[in-house]
Amino acid sequence: MRLIFLGAPGAGKGTYAAQLSQKLGIPAISTGDILRANVKAETALGREARAFMDRGALVPDDLVIRMLAERMQAEDVRRGFILDGFPRTLAQADALGRLLQERSLSLTAVVNIEVPNDVIIRRLTGRRMCPTCGANYNVNTNLKPKTDGLCDRDGTPLIIRSDDNEETIRQRLQVYETQTAALVEYYRNAGLLRSVPAVGQIPEIVAAIQAAVG
Ligand code: AMP
Repeated sequence: MRLIFLGAPGAGKGTYAAQLSQKLGIPAISTGDILRANVKAETALGREARAFMDRGALVPDDLVIRMLAERMQAEDVRRGFILDGFPRTLAQADALGRLLQERSLSLTAVVNIEVPNDVIIRRLTGRRMCPTCGANYNVNTNLKPKTDGLCDRDGTPLIIRSDDNEETIRQRLQVYETQTAALVEYYRNAGLLRSVPAVGQIPEIVAAIQAAVG
């Protein structure tokens, strides 16, 4: 299966993508995760991307498209993939379309994860991340770590993502509305859109997504 997860920041794309990736045995590819790894490793790409990310803006299309194209060369995407956080602009969507067409591949479905705004704010302000393994937690939902402030997997003290402060969150939501929300229509017109209301327990939402794409 070749899937895209669309949805505002904090809609839970990463959480559902990680779980569905395990169930289906296909990689979940998060451009946000790849960018954060580059920032951490201080690569040339990371140095360029950092300022955009810190202020909640999108990293320029050419950088992100090149990064995604490179990731799509890997062996593991042959079985399929879930894209989480890409595409975010019409130019990225067109570039992805061309990339797939070159390989005579097509998308299976685009999942639009729908969450009310008040839930999104609650989730984003409660989000915590493990800087060692990238695992996500949330102190405002039932995704709390077993021990307060520590990663369940490796015990590392959890951090708040540098772009999860209130001002940047507001900026990211606005960027979503102005630049990314148009992709809902884009993929609806292509007949690929499956909207899934994502409020409730995580396993039920993952099952609903699976049913919508299956
Ligand atoms: P995320 O983890 O998906 O919320 O992404 C975190 C940040 O990385 C975003 O606010 C952007 O600055 C950047 N980013 C991630 N994916 C993309 C993309 N497809 N296009 C542009 N910027 C991106």
